[in-house]
Amino acid sequence: MTFTTVRDRIFAGGEWHAPDTNAQVIVESPVDYSEVGRAVEGSAADVDLAVRAAREAFDNGPWPRMSYAERADWIDKLADELERRGGETADLITAEIGQPVRLSRPWGGVRPVVHLRYYAKLAREAALEQERPNMGRAGTSIVRREPLGVAALIVPWNHPQASMTLKLSPALAAGCTVVIKPAPETPLDIFNLAEATTAIGFPPGVINIVPGGRETGQALIEHEGIDKIGFTGSSATGRHIAALAGSRLIPVTLELGGKSAGIILESADLDSVFESLRVASFENTGQTCALLSRILAPRAMYDTVRDRLVDLARDLRVGDPLDEQTEMGPLVSRRIYDRVTGMITAAKDSGATLLAGDTQLPDRGYYVAPTIVTDAALDSAIAQDEVFGPVVLLHPYDDVDEAVRIANGSRYGLAGAVYGDPDTALEVARRIETGSIGINGYRPDLAQPYGGYKDSGLGREFAPEAIWSYQEVKSIWR
Ligand code: NAD
Repeated sequence: MTFTTVRDRIFAGGEWHAPDTNAQVIVESPVDYSEVGRAVEGSAADVDLAVRAAREAFDNGPWPRMSYAERADWIDKLADELERRGGETADLITAEIGQPVRLSRPWGGVRPVVHLRYYAKLAREAALEQERPNMGRAGTSIVRREPLGVAALIVPWNHPQASMTLKLSPALAAGCTVVIKPAPETPLDIFNLAEATTAIGFPPGVINIVPGGRETGQALIEHEGIDKIGFTGSSATGRHIAALAGSRLIPVTLELGGKSAGIILESADLDSVFESLRVASFENTGQTCALLSRILAPRAMYDTVRDRLVDLARDLRVGDPLDEQTEMGPLVSRRIYDRVTGMITAAKDSGATLLAGDTQLPDRGYYVAPTIVTDAALDSAIAQDEVFGPVVLLHPYDDVDEAVRIANGSRYGLAGAVYGDPDTALEVARRIETGSIGINGYRPDLAQPYGGYKDSGLGREFAPEAIWSYQEVKSIWR
């Protein structure tokens, strides 16, 4: 058994602290089950220390009192430092979750830097106060945005750095201080952020980190020193967090699960559809919330689409995450492996047809072959529940109204795409109940808001909207 990384301290107030207990999270390689590393499992006392540090930095420190431009300079410095560590961060993510290097490098090494720099730029352009003409009397009043306070940032393992910096960057730009709780599957890569802050002398207490699982997260959301919760994870946990935040009347932003539809119109160019679905349906071994996990095809094209989808699933390169050619690695953990394989078996038992699923897999590791499911009843579990694995459903439809009905017949509403002639596709896209949808592809853009309808979330990330979600609005009437 080789330990590669041990993180036995929590990071609070710009310093490393011995934890309150000896409890640790052990990270097991999903490729060969060896121990990748271990980290502190934060107790309620550790959480308290981190929240107090964040509170002190917010109440008495310089961060919320700086100008936007000063904060932007710090955020850019942090981005530069993380860029230097990007390769190491990406390698850690690959070790933790088996994410292929061709994904972990851009998503774990580069995206965090892109996110920070984008919000530094927005902060430079932002106005703290806006003068607005009054309606009932002459003159103007002032509308001012003030940071909310201490934000708890709770993130999942699937794109650990990207989902974390999608919260951290706007929270910092807004003037908040933060306590980050990474997922128990990815408690190691996060500490590169802590080291980057100490390397550049980032104001202490602004960024604090306590790894751990559910109980650590629970202690954090219950802490009275928290003023806002930014959460990415499952809808079940999101609902629980929203209820708790509701009881304290503090704001939450929730980025939750999805079961998004890719609608293929008769006018679609199938070559480009399948080029798009290679990533849009299967990226990260199906462990990405916004994937198109339901494909809707016109009945006249159904057989062709089915055959090509099966060919695509068989063509995906599944294997060693360290191989540059590998597109799909293993699932993250035994827990997720058992859940995904259990859902596939249950789908078969309920009468659905399983296609593909016969890719040759490595002997060891939590690998699941890309699988296409047809003939699933629209209200069946496999058609309604998020799998979070390489499983894609195919449904036929008779006319566009039926396609819209099927797409919207989900309790989720996170993403989606419509493939076909752009004008018709746009008309269909307007009818889908979802937070974001692509035309002839699904390519999220940081400058536009991203988030979910229905069970897929509350509030929006990306774009200036994310900064506003970490701020209060004050009107100064004159
Ligand atoms: P999860 O909800 O179990 O865990 C997510 C995070 O919440 C982890 O850090 C976990 O430790 C923490 N947590 C769990 N219980 C908690 C509690 N009671 N209080 C505070 N924190 C708690 O989710 P998961 O299964 O690990 O992650 C996968 C899910 O995340 C999927 O449903 C996926 O769709 C979703 N996701 C959504 C987006 C998005 O942007 N919408 C992005 C990535 C993942």
